[in-house]
Amino acid sequence: MFSLKNKKAVVTGGGSGIGQAIAVQLASNGAEVHILEITEQNGQETLEKIKSAGGNAKVYACDVSKQKDVLAVFDQIGAINILVNNAGIAHIGKADTTSEEDFDRIYNINIKGVYNCLFAAIPQIRKYGGGVIINMASIAALVGIPDRFAYSTAKGAVKAMTMSVAKDYISENIRCNSISPARVHTPFVDGFLQKNYPDNIEEMFEKLSKTQPIGRMAQPEEVASLALYLCSDEASFITGVDYPIDGGFTTLNN
Ligand code: NAD
Repeated sequence: MFSLKNKKAVVTGGGSGIGQAIAVQLASNGAEVHILEITEQNGQETLEKIKSAGGNAKVYACDVSKQKDVLAVFDQIGAINILVNNAGIAHIGKADTTSEEDFDRIYNINIKGVYNCLFAAIPQIRKYGGGVIINMASIAALVGIPDRFAYSTAKGAVKAMTMSVAKDYISENIRCNSISPARVHTPFVDGFLQKNYPDNIEEMFEKLSKTQPIGRMAQPEEVASLALYLCSDEASFITGVDYPIDGGFTTLNN
């Protein structure tokens, strides 16, 4: 539906869940996709999905929290049109139960990782004469999630970075928007249930699904479709906006 022919995209955390679905949709609409993952192995499944559908992709081992590594990878990739800052991790805890070590870990990946990729990518987008940036925020940025202090803080920062970047680069033809999903059924959620509720995973899955007014979790592909639209030229008038994709969560639960 949307043509990304001749576009070059970077997707961080593209080896799993939402990032994988975005990488696959961008590639199947014509983009050359570069996936940044913690290990090359983490990106293999996405690579195979893209290649078996006739698309073009490459994986790089790169921890987005390490600026030197991020700069080296973007240097290798060269000029790009699209950056999807998707990599992120979760943490459970309130302000007085989150250790400094855990807070720093969330800060380094979920905030500094986004900054590192912006720092490295903007000069590469500029080489193309403009492009698009998508940052993965969360409903945690909009309404806060109980017991997710560091995570909510980080996603609030991601939403603020989005508005700041949109303003700073609008004159250079660079658009920047964020997406705020509610619960999406990915390995992120499965890992959370396995770790915290090993004895009643199915029951907790149902319970979490029912906290969303629509009665289920989103599928990663539903988030990817929004990302695809925002990356396309059809969304050329949209910048500085956060898009909740939340089955009614932020409006109907209040
Ligand atoms: P996921 O765990 O399935 O995938 C995240 C990927 O990021 C993994 O492949 C992981 O290896 C990679 N990654 C983690 N740290 C990295 C780092 N330092 N450098 C490079 N890669 C790294 O997660 P997901 O559910 O697909 O979530 C993707 C994004 O969407 C995250 O930013 C998350 O906060 C956000 N989000 C998820 C949900 C949800 O319910 N799943 C809801 C709202 C927002």
